[in-house]
Formats: sequence, structure tokens, C-alpha cells
Amino acid sequence: MTESLAKTNLLDLDPAALQEFLSGLGEKPYRTTQVLKWLYQFGVDNFDDMTNISKDLRQQLKDVAEIRAPNVETEQRSDDGTVKWLLRLQDGNCIETVFIPEDNRGTLCVSSQVGCALECSFCSTAQQGFNRNLDVSEIIGQVWIANRALDTTHREERKISNVVFMGMGEPLLNFNNVVSAIRLMTEDNAYGLSKRRVTISTSGVIPALDRLTDVADVALAVSLHAPNDALRDQLVPLNRKYPIAEMLAACHRYVQSQTHRSKITFEYVMLAGINDTDAHARELVKLLRHLPAKVNLIPFNPFPNTRYQCSDEQTRNRFREILMRAGLVTVTRRTRGDDIDAACGQLAGKFHDRTKRRLRLHSALGDSQ
Ligand code: SAH
Repeated sequence: MTESLAKTNLLDLDPAALQEFLSGLGEKPYRTTQVLKWLYQFGVDNFDDMTNISKDLRQQLKDVAEIRAPNVETEQRSDDGTVKWLLRLQDGNCIETVFIPEDNRGTLCVSSQVGCALECSFCSTAQQGFNRNLDVSEIIGQVWIANRALDTTHREERKISNVVFMGMGEPLLNFNNVVSAIRLMTEDNAYGLSKRRVTISTSGVIPALDRLTDVADVALAVSLHAPNDALRDQLVPLNRKYPIAEMLAACHRYVQSQTHRSKITFEYVMLAGINDTDAHARELVKLLRHLPAKVNLIPFNPFPNTRYQCSDEQTRNRFREILMRAGLVTVTRRTRGDDIDAACGQLAGKFHDRTKRRLRLHSALGDSQ
């Protein structure tokens, strides 16, 4: 245990950091390519399997490094093919990861933090509180574990083609580790995913959004959920710090900076009697008129002790119709894996809340008030 703490976990290193680490051992750059392929494409978990690497170097690596992903605590399979893993981290905390197979793609929904500090009132993760940020190895480790599990037990079409940061946590509040993990997801010698197939979902942390513009050209989803500040303040308390107009301006800057200029997805959870009237729909149309936007309506997924209910199907369709008629591309997200509590906002993990509830948001934002 103590020995393992002293070793470098190779899954914590993005491609540049791995290169630096290996050159510190006197190795040439091509070693990085070889090791990346072993780790991520072949999913090996011990150095002896790296057969194109000399025995001497393998021994050296065993002395100073390790390959350590989280442990699979449980694996649950939904009737619809969705798979949910509860993963135990070295400090005993647990997080959740979900794989969602579809006809033409397989999406892995990863967590970025142990819990979440943002207190969105309709989200089950928020009820649990916040513990800490995930390390790079704990983020990329989710892909590593899912990839291995799916490879050995599933047919070809079930493999991971997309990754979405829509599990537990706010990815932009764990910026550096999330960006390093994205570098591994999109690196050709690792998972080789196209940047457009990696999506960051955020409640709208503006300074981090602006930084993201410089470092990672990935797809963006924004948790909007309300068409005005008064309502959004209640549903997504982060809005009190970063109100809608400023957040949309940051979205605009993001789109401008992108090479591919893809649309931003605005997520909108359908809450009965709260944000689902015709007037809300029309307000939403006005708000998004000037952005390359598409809307993802998410039927609210209930969890114990929630005060909300999902809008009924008729209301959801009507809402969608108003947006579509105004020319906004709108899809209603199909609820997946709800029989195993793997749907949006149902991920809970197992961990201790380390922040006092009322201080949580401020501490996460580095606020002193
Ligand atoms: N912190 C990130 C990731 C959150 S989870 C963010 O805010 O975007 C991904 C999506 O699921 C978000 O849009 C989130 O608002 C939504 N969500 C949370 N709880 C939900 C629930 N109970 N039902 C449906 N969607 C929910």
C-alpha cells in the first residue's frame, strides 16, 4: 500500500506528461506511442504484457510506476442494454459510470467529481453533497474499465464511440484533470475519439468556459433548464453568479473559437408546472435565437425525496412543437437505464459529503463571501 503510493500511476499522465516521464527514464519518444497503445488500446494492467518493450525497461517501470484504475464494485445491466458500474476509488469513495448503447453508437457517461457542489435542486447527485475532484486516472480509468468490460463481453457495435461528461460532478470545476483526460480520449495512440464525439456538459462556469476555448475543441452541452434568471436562480444556483446573458455570451465566444463550429446543445429538464409552459417555450426561443443552438429536452428522472415531477408526454410534445416551429432543432432525450437508476440525475455513488451544505457552492467557486 505505502509502496504503491510512491509510484507514478501511468493512468494519471496525459500524453505529454507520459513522454516527459519516459524521457526521464532515458527513453526515446516512440516509447510513449508504444506504452499508450498498451495502456489504452490493449487495456493491459501489468508491465509484463508489454511484449515489445525490453525486459530491463519493464523491470524499471515496475519499480517506479503502476497501472491503477478504480475497482469495479458492482456492474448492473438494464433491460435496455444500459450498463452501470459503481467504481471504488482508492480512498474508499465510490462513483458511477454508465454505458448507453444505441443503434449507431455507444456512449459512455463519465463522472468528473466525487459528488457535486452545485446544488441543482432537481439533481440527485446534488442531494449527496461534494467530496473532491477526480484524478486523471479516475476519469480516464472509467473509460479504461468500460472498454475492457465491453470488449470481452459484448458484440462489436457496443463499443464506446462517444464520451459525455454527464455523470456526477461539474467538469469545468475540475478543469485541469478533465482536460488531461480528454487529451487521452482524443489521442490517436490512446482512444482516438474525434473531438466532436467528446461532450462536456456544464452548468456554465464562465471563466472555465473561456479557458476551454483555448485548450480543447470539444462539443459543448449547457444545462440551461430555464429561460429566465428568476427561475434559473432557483433550479441552477450557479446562475446567481453567472447569469444567463453572460453565460450565453461565453457560449458565443466558444462557438466562434471552434474549428468545426458545431452547435451547442442546451439541456432542458422538463419539470411539471415549473418550466414547461407555452410561455417558457416562447421565451426559450427568443433566448437562443442568435446562437447555433439545439435543444435537448430531458424528461425529469425522479429520485427519493424529490419535490419535482416530470411533465406529462402531452406537455413535453407541445413544448417541443413550439421550439421546432420556431426553427430550433429539438430532441427529447430517451430515458435510458432508469430501472437501474442510471438515468440523468440519478447517479449517486457512495461517499461522504465533506462540505457544509450552505457553504458548498461558495467554496466550489472559490468565493469568500
Ligand atoms: N454538472 C454538469 C453535468 C450534470 S449531469 C451539468 O450541469 O451539465 C448531465 C445532465 O443531467 C445535466 O443537464 C443535468 O442538469 C441533468 N439532470 C440532472 N438531474 C436530472 C434529473 N433528475 N432528471 C433529468 N435530468 C437531470
